[in-house]
Amino acid sequence: MAGCGTDGYRHTHQLLNMCRQHTELFSIFTGYNMQQPQRYIAHFDLDSFFVSVEVLNDPSLKGKAIIVGGSRDRGVVSTCSYEARKFGVRSAMPMKQAIQLCPHAILLRGTRGQYSKYSRWVTDIIASKAPLFEKASIDEFYIDLTGMDTYFDPYQWTIDLRKQIMEETKLPISFGLSSNKMVSKIATDEAKPNGYLFIHPGKEKEFLAPLPVNKFSGVGQQTFLKLKSMGIHLIGDILKHEQAYLEKELGKWGTELYRKAQGISTSIVSSYREAKSISNENTFHENINDVELLLQELVKMTERVAYELRQDEKLCGCIAVKLRYPDFETTSKQVSINYTLRDDELIPVAIDLFHKLWRKGKPVRLLGVKLSELTNHAVQASLFDDAEKKNNLYKAIDDVKNRFGKTKLQKARTVKKKEDEE
Ligand SMILES: [Mg+2]
Repeated sequence: MAGCGTDGYRHTHQLLNMCRQHTELFSIFTGYNMQQPQRYIAHFDLDSFFVSVEVLNDPSLKGKAIIVGGSRDRGVVSTCSYEARKFGVRSAMPMKQAIQLCPHAILLRGTRGQYSKYSRWVTDIIASKAPLFEKASIDEFYIDLTGMDTYFDPYQWTIDLRKQIMEETKLPISFGLSSNKMVSKIATDEAKPNGYLFIHPGKEKEFLAPLPVNKFSGVGQQTFLKLKSMGIHLIGDILKHEQAYLEKELGKWGTELYRKAQGISTSIVSSYREAKSISNENTFHENINDVELLLQELVKMTERVAYELRQDEKLCGCIAVKLRYPDFETTSKQVSINYTLRDDELIPVAIDLFHKLWRKGKPVRLLGVKLSELTNHAVQASLFDDAEKKNNLYKAIDDVKNRFGKTKLQKARTVKKKEDEE
């Protein structure tokens, strides 16, 4: 439970750096501007992840229509099995509607601890192999393999990695490999379930052309209808028009769609290891040795970072507490937790860490809280807020904080605790 990082990728990483440096050195010595290396980006996505984990834990569920999601009346679908998909059930659909479409489905509320465990397991395998990867959500990863083709076949490497993940975790996973993130993600989607697809560099446009325009993220119902009215149904249809016409009709979106349809995307894989953390530190005007006061500060700070977390639409998988004493001795402790965005789950862990760290009675000069292992919560969020009421409550609190400043609303922990003790 202690570590929040992963290791063991250094070998490949060094190799990759070596070949990147070679390219640079060659350019410096010869003055010849070498072409940018061919980019290779793999996108991995676990197939109906929550359902797969449920089936692993209870094999009798295999092959059945399963929906994992919130409550019957107010919840939404987090994920569903392919058997339920056949009836039209989709992620993010209201549970009510899903049950109407597939009344015989087995409904599960989900086991978050298990999902976090498996998500970390897959992350660790990828981290041990991949030079540079991004954890795009709890079940989704991008890997940048650019430069590796000097030493390995990127396609074979990606196939081997998939095999290893499936052999070790027994979870089905699909991947798309291409020259950029956008095309790879769409390729994964096309490869599912339980498959893989390599779009050779230069074939991006060809691959995209026959697919419907709403395969592009960001094309919502409104844009979809607008495009339809322009006679654009497939991605290939976009390029039948002049860029200027698309811009006239769709504004900036027109420019972007024109680029996307050609299979162009330059967004980079941002390293999970260097992923931002959210932290809050406070050096006190006067050193504090009153435990109630320290805990009160700690709760306030945890609420603040949890608020930032929700504003960024992230989940965190690790929390750390830091203490500094007047003699500048600094100590900190971190712990891996189930992926969460909730104050009421973070605060008890922060308090527990504090008690483990603090030398009782010793005055404290600085206190800090840090959330790390951040990842996007995407559609699975409903599961991370299984009680929709609580979700709405947080939304209300965060709305008030946004409107009136962050100090307005804080839970009266100290008051409550004193009541409890009496
Ligand atoms: Mg998935």
